[in-house]
Amino acid sequence: MVRNILHIDMDAFFVSVEQVCDPSLKGKPVIVGGDPYIGRGVVSAASYEARQYGIHSAMPISRAKRLCPHAIFLRGSHGRYSRFSTRIFAILNRYSPLVEPMSLDEAYVDLTGCERLHGPVTETAVRIHDEIKNTVGINASVGMGTNKLMAKIGSSMAKPNGFLRILPGCEARFLAPLPIGRIPGIGPKSVKAFKSENIRTVRDLAAIPLDYLEKEYGEWGHRLYQKARGISQSPVSKRDDTRSISRETTLEEDSTDPAFLESTLSWLVEKAGSQLREEGLRARCVSLKLRYSNFKTVTRSCTLKEAACEDHVIFGTVAHLFRKLFTRGTRVRLIGVALTSLTSDVSLQMELFENLNMKQWQKLYQGIDRIRDKYGFRSILRGSSRKN
Ligand SMILES: [Mg+2]
Repeated sequence: MVRNILHIDMDAFFVSVEQVCDPSLKGKPVIVGGDPYIGRGVVSAASYEARQYGIHSAMPISRAKRLCPHAIFLRGSHGRYSRFSTRIFAILNRYSPLVEPMSLDEAYVDLTGCERLHGPVTETAVRIHDEIKNTVGINASVGMGTNKLMAKIGSSMAKPNGFLRILPGCEARFLAPLPIGRIPGIGPKSVKAFKSENIRTVRDLAAIPLDYLEKEYGEWGHRLYQKARGISQSPVSKRDDTRSISRETTLEEDSTDPAFLESTLSWLVEKAGSQLREEGLRARCVSLKLRYSNFKTVTRSCTLKEAACEDHVIFGTVAHLFRKLFTRGTRVRLIGVALTSLTSDVSLQMELFENLNMKQWQKLYQGIDRIRDKYGFRSILRGSSRKN
């Protein structure tokens, strides 16, 4: 079966987000990253206006400042970019069950077999692009092909704000005239090495026999042979995140006071919950960690019926664990919460519960996160939270 894979990549993502939040930045050279005041760090993103001055990602800020002194330099807000990213992924997840995030602003979407549901794939690709533009306000470039390799090359050649589909069966012909550096995985070093052997275009590369490539480069040689022909079997796969998000604190003085310990726990839950939502994740498993004054450490975990990212749900669970575990009079030295079995926060999933309250909770927490973005983490806290 012929596959239909999209690679979708936001244009100058961080800068675009800043421009949506402050439209006066539109059409100006804007640079996000590092600390422009002390001139440290590197460029994370540059607007297309700034790129005209030769500025690009990973360039030292000090250099960017010399090239374009009148550019607008911003530090950027990771939380804000994550929230935009979550909204973008919520759109992508509505079009296919197979979305593979590559970064905050880049993903593969497998549309194979989705025609019955969404209509012709080309139109679907354009609709996804337009929906992101119309609802989130950001331009994306979209590549489409029969595999991830072709989709990725397509989106990079469609930049900015374009759509390029490489039709099934045209892969090798499409690639032949391109410089080999266009192929993902062939970096500047390889380009240079190949150039010395007079191999400049994909056509040159495709002319090398497989056994020669394998003898020279081993397994990588085999992959080069396939790449030069636009062949890639790599599946679009959801990432399963085995990471955890945790917060713990060693108390200034060992405590036997359950009310104090619970309020400290509440504060830690808010910290962990805010990071969870910032990364667009939900947790299925909540754990409590206590270390007593004799350094004995105990943990207790609980699996939630549904993955959650709401502080009150997480706190309810961890407070319950605490009440079961804590015995009067024991002195606690360290207290912590850990969130595991993380999944992406798919808004579609929430609608399955048909629970309006969930939506209202989501809105509430989005509001809290926005306030914190603007005024700092401590500007809004649960009444029960005590900063340790
Ligand atoms: Mg991008």
